[in-house]
Amino acid sequence: MTAEKAFWKTTHLEEMSEIEWEALCDGCGQCCLHKLEDEDTQEVFYTDVACQLYDLGQGACKSYSQRLNRVEMCVKLTVELIPQFHWLPKTCAYRLLSEGQQLPDWHPLVSGRSQSVVEAGHSIVGKAVPEFSIAEDAWEERVITWVE
Ligand code: SF4
Repeated sequence: MTAEKAFWKTTHLEEMSEIEWEALCDGCGQCCLHKLEDEDTQEVFYTDVACQLYDLGQGACKSYSQRLNRVEMCVKLTVELIPQFHWLPKTCAYRLLSEGQQLPDWHPLVSGRSQSVVEAGHSIVGKAVPEFSIAEDAWEERVITWVE
């Protein structure tokens, strides 16, 4: 079974099938970067430290179906959780559609090519570092500003 063409223009997030929902992810990997939260302001800061399961060579989770069991902090994004996930990148397809915006031209569903995410500069591949290479108490030094 495959997702129907341009389903994101005609189907609300709440009504999408599992296949359609999953197809919306552009694979940028930005949400798989570790984030730090200011305890006083709740402001979230992205680091360039990728989750232990993120494959920085392939640009994908190494264990997507088991990620929730394997990584304690990993959360399954649902339509109900989108408003709480204020830290989602501005380019995230789930965020864009929930805000009534269109998918960008570089989104794989629009371009027809997964590589367009990399070409448009939105993939973390080539920019992030693996979790095992940086001690957690040094993550503050890894805060980045290239996630919008
Ligand atoms: S930020 Fe959004 S589009 Fe990018 S990998 Fe995460 S869920 Fe997918």
